[in-house]
Amino acid sequence: MMLLDPFHNHFYTNGVVHILGAGSSLSGSVNNMKKFSCRNLEAYIADHPDLALPQDVQYLRLIDHVASCARCQHVLLDQVADRLGAPLDLQPVDCDACDEDLPAYIDTEYDEGTLAAIKSYPHVWWHLWTCRECASSYQMILALQAAEAAGELPPITFASLLTPQPIIPRFVLQRSVFVRTLVPQFGVMWGGKPTETVIHDDDHADFEVRVSVRQTAGRWAVVVLVDPPVVGHAVVTIGAHVFRAPFDAHGCASLEPIPQELLTSSVGADMVVGVER
Ligand SMILES: [Zn+2]
Ligand SMILES: [Zn+2]
Repeated sequence: MMLLDPFHNHFYTNGVVHILGAGSSLSGSVNNMKKFSCRNLEAYIADHPDLALPQDVQYLRLIDHVASCARCQHVLLDQVADRLGAPLDLQPVDCDACDEDLPAYIDTEYDEGTLAAIKSYPHVWWHLWTCRECASSYQMILALQAAEAAGELPPITFASLLTPQPIIPRFVLQRSVFVRTLVPQFGVMWGGKPTETVIHDDDHADFEVRVSVRQTAGRWAVVVLVDPPVVGHAVVTIGAHVFRAPFDAHGCASLEPIPQELLTSSVGADMVVGVER
């Protein structure tokens, strides 16, 4: 989810990173954590002493692990301080800020090597190690550049890669309507059993789109289902809050956790739903 601060394991004081205990960082997929462990990062670093980001899609699961593992984050920061001869001067950035400097990071890495790129754009390097989505963009750009260099593609622009392309134009679900649909379910919802309530089911641009609200043990999610399935992301905006999640192979995207009051309060912004590449 885009809004999650990939730095949520950290707090910052005068540019010094403090890492909280391992128990405080529980994001990331449990399945993936089973597959990739701290040992995999150690092995990866042994093979990649310049601490370059993995370029193989397989290793996105390593990024998932690092994103949720305070120990590995510590190892990476220690290693990079060792290579550069000084601790990284890190400022927290979100995905948008990473996108902005990603082309410059890639250019510097290409021209002067990874360590020079890390030195100039430490926030990009760190964000890529802790955000699967941005790491995936990075890998895609490198793959496309390689294809372009090999003459397999016409010249490409970064902007076209980084700007989300709408698949289904955004549509608005009015708060007064979805809250009314959800309210009769509250009695059931408080019962502790998972519930899922459909708040929208309609055709949009050749797709059938179903939007529902799911509640499991007090954790709230908006689930977007598109038929036929698409490769892309669901984006749900409620006022200033933006939630974004990829679709799975069945065309299902689950945006969570969403603060309950954003979904059930009768006062507030409408919900805007979009599907993007
Ligand atoms: Zn680890
Ligand atoms: Zn990101």
